[in-house]
Amino acid sequence: MLDYDLHCHSNISDGILTPTALVERAALRGVKMLALTDHDDMHGLDEARSAALQYGMRFINGVEISVTWRKHTLHIVGLNIDPAFPALQAGLEKVRSGRGIRAQKMADELAKIGIGGVFQGALKLASNPNMIGRTHFARYLVEAGYCKDVKSVFNRYLAMGKPGYVPHQWADLSGAISWIKGSGGVVVLAHPGRYMVGRHGMGKQTMHQLLCEFANMGGQALEVVTGSHTAEQYAEFARYAEEFNLLCSCGSDFHGPNESYRDLGRLPDLPLICRPVWELWDKTIAGESGQTFRG
Ligand code: AMP
Ligand code: MN
Ligand code: MN
Ligand code: MN
Repeated sequence: MLDYDLHCHSNISDGILTPTALVERAALRGVKMLALTDHDDMHGLDEARSAALQYGMRFINGVEISVTWRKHTLHIVGLNIDPAFPALQAGLEKVRSGRGIRAQKMADELAKIGIGGVFQGALKLASNPNMIGRTHFARYLVEAGYCKDVKSVFNRYLAMGKPGYVPHQWADLSGAISWIKGSGGVVVLAHPGRYMVGRHGMGKQTMHQLLCEFANMGGQALEVVTGSHTAEQYAEFARYAEEFNLLCSCGSDFHGPNESYRDLGRLPDLPLICRPVWELWDKTIAGESGQTFRG
């Protein structure tokens, strides 16, 4: 089991816990190295870092950037970034700036099918109004009794092809990569298996093209162990990482108690063929932990 968790969310984006409460929960669950990776926003990092210090936990600055590649929305995680890097700050500000209008459009679409008041309802649940997103809509629709849980709301109303879905142009892949690398961070393709799910998901050939482009543009790692991958997908993406000479990352993608695929930490080990991403910022740690990650 791994005591590193390099992907999770606070209420600065669409998580439920404050950065401090998130770090406390991670500490209680034995996490030794944590990256906070809020969507498109770095304002939780200082608070999380101070809390991590109290628990003697290693803290890694992170972010998860929303990207549009062809017709697909991708998530690019930046790890060990410098949040003071101006191009990263400016890029994220631009990505965030479209969220309010998008949310209004989503609410208009839902109103057309008789579901009213969703914008105000979702906004109340967004601790950071600049980061209003589909998860806040989903939580509101559960609260208002439309569905039993967040997952069902996505399946019925918010996923691509459903009545509340509004297409949106996020950052370019090359832009997101350059902001992260420019800040000294490591570029990770988050939960790749998710892009292959469903009728609108990409097939194997497109995934192959994506990985080629990602690696050529300077992408450095794949998230192999994540809350939304099956054990078969750990193996599948570990092989892709080897093929494209990419490092491997792991993270729960925790958003809140009783809501996410996985709770914080206690993730299964990376497959033996993986080279772990943290080698890049701390060559000694993999050896010190007493675990063997290499085949
Ligand atoms: P947004 O950036 O506003 O499009 O929201 C994306 C977020 O919605 C993701 O980061 C997930 O937290 C959540 N999400 C996306 N798809 C699903 C799903 N099928 N079930 C539950 N949550 C989802
Ligand atoms: Mn999310
Ligand atoms: Mn994501
Ligand atoms: Mn995430």
